[in-house]
Amino acid sequence: MNARLHHNGRSQGCVGIDIGGTKIEGVLLDATDRVIDVCRMPSHSGESNVVTDIVRVARILSNEALPIGIGIPGQVNCATGQVSNVVNLDIETLELGERVSAIMHAPVHVENDVNAAAVGAAEFVEQVDGNATVVFLNFGTGLAAGLVRGGQAEHGYSGSIGEIGHLPIDPNGFECPCGQRGCLETVASGGAVAKLWPSANPPMPDLIRKARQGDGHANDVLTMVAHAMGDTIQIVAQAYDPQRIIIGGGMAKTGDALIEVIQAELSRRAEGCRFLTTLDIASNIRIAAIDQPIGAIGAALAAKRAQPQS
Ligand SMILES: [Zn+2]
Repeated sequence: MNARLHHNGRSQGCVGIDIGGTKIEGVLLDATDRVIDVCRMPSHSGESNVVTDIVRVARILSNEALPIGIGIPGQVNCATGQVSNVVNLDIETLELGERVSAIMHAPVHVENDVNAAAVGAAEFVEQVDGNATVVFLNFGTGLAAGLVRGGQAEHGYSGSIGEIGHLPIDPNGFECPCGQRGCLETVASGGAVAKLWPSANPPMPDLIRKARQGDGHANDVLTMVAHAMGDTIQIVAQAYDPQRIIIGGGMAKTGDALIEVIQAELSRRAEGCRFLTTLDIASNIRIAAIDQPIGAIGAALAAKRAQPQS
């Protein structure tokens, strides 16, 4: 952390910053996109604090006017850098890009945090050709997908592409805070698993272990979660036909045990279905590089790729 490495002033690098409700993480990339410095600190709620935190991290990482990429939760207008409805940072509407750019005298590009993480995660996945479509699934407190094509995040018409967590798949399911019933994220998210299996922290590895030991209730809960994750994966696989589906968010820390659960669920679905057997979705699934600051790296890459090519 904060290990200041010698920075070659001739190279044009960029800074990436990922800010969430509890922490802010920044990276400095060199001209070849290598991470040459990382900085983490607690974040603070409120519009002014968010701007101050971002500027502080950017200045620690570089004293040059390098392009700055920011990943932040909530609704983001990438064209203007305006963010709104960032509940866990207590922001209603903030001209984040303009504010940071005016202080730093540098170009600033703002992305939704899941989209930024998707761009970052795609960099660490093997065998992806330059124009490949990659879907990143953020199984965190909630559930959202990021869609990356040729290294760039897609945004859709309204900017809400990938908000699949609020697809209602079960009319008899749990009520969702969004006002619907049976949304995917009421079962297929880290937050949902913590509610359904509250006995351990982290819950998912414990749930899988107990189910494997023959605990009937654990098995019921895991079956329900695996089914909803299977639905999630099948939805993005068939809607976007991506080359890779990357499992990210807090649940990704469960690692191989989670991949085994997902692959078993997908194999069960493919039995007797020639279409699903041919699609072979399971072979395209990977776990995100959870040991890397993918959110900050993706924010930096998005900023760099948003610059006019010179
Ligand atoms: Zn919902």
